[in-house]
Amino acid sequence: MHIRMLKLRLLNAIAPAYFYSATAITFALHFYLFLPTIFPSHGRGFSSTTVLHSIIFLYLMLNALGNYTMTIRHPAESPNEKIVPVCSPDCPDRVDAHYLLNGRHFCKLCKKVILRRDHHCFFTGNCIGNRNMRYFIMFCIYTSCTCLYSLVLGVAYLTVEYSISFESPLTFLTLLPLSTGYFFLGAISGLQFFLVLMLYVWLGIGLTCAGFCCQQVLLVARGQTWCQMRSGRLAESDSSWRANLSDVFGSRWALGFFLPVQTVEASHGDAAHEHE
Ligand SMILES: [Zn+2]
Repeated sequence: MHIRMLKLRLLNAIAPAYFYSATAITFALHFYLFLPTIFPSHGRGFSSTTVLHSIIFLYLMLNALGNYTMTIRHPAESPNEKIVPVCSPDCPDRVDAHYLLNGRHFCKLCKKVILRRDHHCFFTGNCIGNRNMRYFIMFCIYTSCTCLYSLVLGVAYLTVEYSISFESPLTFLTLLPLSTGYFFLGAISGLQFFLVLMLYVWLGIGLTCAGFCCQQVLLVARGQTWCQMRSGRLAESDSSWRANLSDVFGSRWALGFFLPVQTVEASHGDAAHEHE
């Protein structure tokens, strides 16, 4: 048990570092490699295409990083409970959390009581619950968009710079094994091999985030949590899907869809769930 907790704590420290590194690398590749090569300026300043792509990329990244920060800044913990309450009699004592009552959990990693806990996100190092679920979902959507957008520009760069053709749908299946072989034979440079690896990283993160986001929205609409699903105790919600969604996304949800701003009232989650 202690070893498993140690592994989880280690993951809780490594995952945010991985997120920051991947973000910095993606940023550098866009502005120092992809845009200058795909859209060369020919000494006449920046072309309008370069400016357009820069704005799209910066907007996607601003939303991804902004919602990441909001997820951390608005934690799902209960501000009123400093002392750990007694566990519910049917607490399964999961690896990372004690089940309490009324939709509250005690997260062993955060060491806090969490309201309507969904899951512990290792990339943010925080628990996700009703109060930060909206930011977390937007973070997933924009991370997915940033990764898939980077994937498209990465493919364009490899086509322009190294004349790799992506016309065949099988290219993505053979690209990694072939590049690995060529790299160890010394036929391709370290940078080229690294770029191929990044394509798969972006594809993997992009698809995972999109799939995860769809599942989260479905759970939110049904008034259920990942925690309930994992323990096989999905509760049927009495409220309509519209009420469940507005409970999580707040009244100004449309604004939050385009900008990483606070759309859930500060005391919203606490007031609603204190009386459960
Ligand atoms: Zn936690």
